Amino acid sequence: MKIHTFTGGDFGENTYLVVCPDTARAVLVDPGAAAPAALRRLDEEGLRLDAILLTHAHLDHVEGIGAVRAAWPEVPIWLHPADYEMYMAIPQQAAMFGLEAPPQPPPTHELEHGQRFTFGGCALDVRFTPGHSPGHVIFVSPETGAALVGDVVFMGSIGRTDLPGGNFQTLMNSIRTQVLALPDATVLHPGHGPATTVGHERVGNPFLVPHYGGELV
Ligand SMILES: [Zn+2]
Ligand SMILES: [Zn+2]
Repeated sequence: MKIHTFTGGDFGENTYLVVCPDTARAVLVDPGAAAPAALRRLDEEGLRLDAILLTHAHLDHVEGIGAVRAAWPEVPIWLHPADYEMYMAIPQQAAMFGLEAPPQPPPTHELEHGQRFTFGGCALDVRFTPGHSPGHVIFVSPETGAALVGDVVFMGSIGRTDLPGGNFQTLMNSIRTQVLALPDATVLHPGHGPATTVGHERVGNPFLVPHYGGELV
């Protein structure tokens, strides 16, 4: 499995193109402002897009979905139901930041904890990780040793919990049980900023070390 990163927009959001090379199948995770660049890459490599997978429904992670659907009209859109309400309120989310944004095509499929999403010969495990948003999930590839973690954890930081539906204790619990429980070598691809690893954050993340530093969970 190959993971390509495209960054763009006011929030520097990372759009991920996840490719299953042997079968030329791909999924887009959190298509934001950089979605057009990811779509060009799909075309250049002659890939088929199987799905849009969303870690959560914040504006910056979903604002490119309309552009993706314009190129791939039938592609399914997967979201955890606990973020559905927020997804349907994209214009109101934008207004909170003094921005304007149109609604996006509605989700077509529901993600749930424990699900294994397969495309080509590749798979992503769905893990429920609320706290930054009520319906946040991460996508883990145990075979590749990689995880797409949205806004749960970043290099040296964690997701904000002051937005509607956010909760600090819930987020910390999600990080402890779903992220820090992964092997140290697992590469984390966050919604903003550079990739990191579980091991790096376990011993170096200032938000986590006071709680979990150096201890295997
Ligand atoms: Zn977010
Ligand atoms: Zn974000």
